[in-house]
Amino acid sequence: MIDIASPLRLRLDSAALVDNWRWLGTAGGAEAGAAIKADGYGLGARAVMRHLAAAGCRHFFVATWAEAAALMPLPAGVSLSVLHGVGTEDLIAARTLPARPVLNSVEQVRRWRDGGEGRPCDVMVDTGMNRLGLRVEEARGGALDGLAIETLLSHLASADEDSAQNERQLAAFAAVRDAIPARRTSLANSAGICLGTDYGFDLTRPGLALYGGVPRREAEGAIRQVVFPETRVLQVRDVPAGEAVGYGATWTARCDSRIAVANIGYADGYLRCHVGTGGARFAGQALPLVGRVSMDLVAFDASGVDGLAEGDWLALDYDLVATSARCGLSQYELLTGLGNRFARHWS
Ligand SMILES: *Cc1c(COP(=O)(O)O)cnc(C)c1O
Repeated sequence: MIDIASPLRLRLDSAALVDNWRWLGTAGGAEAGAAIKADGYGLGARAVMRHLAAAGCRHFFVATWAEAAALMPLPAGVSLSVLHGVGTEDLIAARTLPARPVLNSVEQVRRWRDGGEGRPCDVMVDTGMNRLGLRVEEARGGALDGLAIETLLSHLASADEDSAQNERQLAAFAAVRDAIPARRTSLANSAGICLGTDYGFDLTRPGLALYGGVPRREAEGAIRQVVFPETRVLQVRDVPAGEAVGYGATWTARCDSRIAVANIGYADGYLRCHVGTGGARFAGQALPLVGRVSMDLVAFDASGVDGLAEGDWLALDYDLVATSARCGLSQYELLTGLGNRFARHWS
């Protein structure tokens, strides 16, 4: 087989990932699990699971059965929950794989009673978000009687804001917890952990903050960046003053310039919203993004940058908080958008 070098690089810091997980466990006052849906928010779910399981993380959450199947075989002593529950096409996977459905509706509960062969499950109760989950009245009205519930969950809608909805959901969940027998209870995501240990219950489910996202100011300074995307210079060219660069000729060189054309574009999750504020670094020197972002290419102004040549790697400006603030994408979108052309390198 021909060994083909990957055109883009995602440097991933496993020590930062594990430190973030440990901090979230302490801050939440509860055992921390890990949300690794969407391929570990774009980092690679299998590697994330391996690093966190080695550090002692025991409870993992994915969205779909396809995501669960891709993680087999699981590390020893680890449990995996599937947040979308069990639909009509999922029963065989749900009976066969060593993972549990998170049952989200009376319909799903009925399906699991009929087809789950008595296997354990998790249950999501909706405490006010109106996304997934049984309504509180349904959960308390006998719909769950006799089920072997491992984890009883609910999810916070506004934990990243100082909203009165947080306390209402907390109170609703505490009341449901008293009424429904389950081995453990779980409410908080990353932002919920920052609301304080009242929100911790038995198990927390951080995602974003594991991967370096800062969901609330309480996590500032504690959460470390994990993801460092790098793009490669395909060509360095001299652009005389007055000539334009890229589609639509949206940027014109004011003076004689050197332009580095690099191999990343919107197909890699580097979207057009970076225009005007995006940039990269080479050996400590800043290269502002110029012109439009193409599908697989971008141009950076490398005027005055010493020693830059074809084949060099540029570190993209990708601090999650700052990048989100300047380009308007959420920190979640900045992570999950990173595409398949990146080779993922863990340190
Ligand atoms: C995605 C998800 C999480 C993790 O949320 P973050 O905001 O990324 O920490 C936790 N619980 C559920 C139900 C989720 O869907």
